[in-house]
Amino acid sequence: MILPIIKYGHPVLRAKGKEVAAADARIRELAADMLETMHAANGIGLAAQQVGAPLQLTVLDISQVEDRPSSLRLNGVKVDPAEVMPLVLINPTIRLNEEVCAGNEGCLSFPDITADIDRAVSVEVDAETLEGEKLRIEASGLLARALQHEVDHLNGILFIDRMSSVVKASLSSRLKRLQKETLKG
Ligand code: ZN
Repeated sequence: MILPIIKYGHPVLRAKGKEVAAADARIRELAADMLETMHAANGIGLAAQQVGAPLQLTVLDISQVEDRPSSLRLNGVKVDPAEVMPLVLINPTIRLNEEVCAGNEGCLSFPDITADIDRAVSVEVDAETLEGEKLRIEASGLLARALQHEVDHLNGILFIDRMSSVVKASLSSRLKRLQKETLKG
């Protein structure tokens, strides 16, 4: 089922996600709906907050992006990122490596708004799968950026919080308008 995507201005986007105790039927259904919703919106990531559920659950799929490469080691083994997509991650924790680069980013909760944002070039993520397995992800490139964006969502952090003050100021009237539309419902 395609779910409505919560837009900027709704307080649930600022909620820290609750840890998922077990991937029960409800969580599996939510994850399936989130995948369908993300794919229908042509997104590469979606956090549970964005469909109104403040939980430590996110989905990603970078397989359709051809012009921004990623690399991935899964549990220590180098794999083709496209072949293991989509990813459903439960209770992820992230470590950022030091090197930073700027890259363009958008967010399904901020229609038509994109900006260059500094992020770590590579990251390590520990998470659980829907099957209850532990996953160690070492990623770089677009996937590293998407992981940082999604794990931020799970902690109530939005990409506007990562923008430089100059960029954010340049978007301020559009952000105010979006916030107003969201609150009007
Ligand atoms: Zn987002």
